[in-house]
Amino acid sequence: MKITSEKEMLALGKSVAEKIHAPRVIELVGDVGAGKTTFVRGLAEGLGVKEPVTSPSFTISKSYAFPGGILTHYDFYRLPDPGLMAEDLEESMSDPNSIVIVEWANTVENLLPADCMRIEIKYNDDNTREVNL
Ligand code: ADP
Ligand code: MG
Repeated sequence: MKITSEKEMLALGKSVAEKIHAPRVIELVGDVGAGKTTFVRGLAEGLGVKEPVTSPSFTISKSYAFPGGILTHYDFYRLPDPGLMAEDLEESMSDPNSIVIVEWANTVENLLPADCMRIEIKYNDDNTREVNL
């Protein structure tokens, strides 16, 4: 589907939040600036997360409580070898109350469950985005 603005990307995240239930793992695929974190902000809002969502690029992971569960957002971009963070990811994914969303999952691809939801965001020249769910 075509997403023409940041506002629409937030709304898409929100609508996905209404359709999913924990436990759930989502892989987010797209270049830097595609809108992955923007999508997560919408998802978090839809789940009922009260605090602001910021990119976990430097901390690798960030967790946010929402009514009935926990959202954990991973970004493995700066981590060529996931090391201990791979164990951290597995622990999050095994929590029945958790929604786990992963950016730059290439190095941990083999750990993701078979029913992992994959969302691909492609950047178009005119600032719109092509999103495949
Ligand atoms: P990523 O996490 O993929 O690196 P971000 O979500 O951090 O990307 O950044 C995307 C940037 O692009 C934001 O500054 C956002 O405002 C802007 N933007 C412009 N148009 C769109 C769109 N159609 N969808 C998503 N983001 C958009
Ligand atoms: Mg990001």
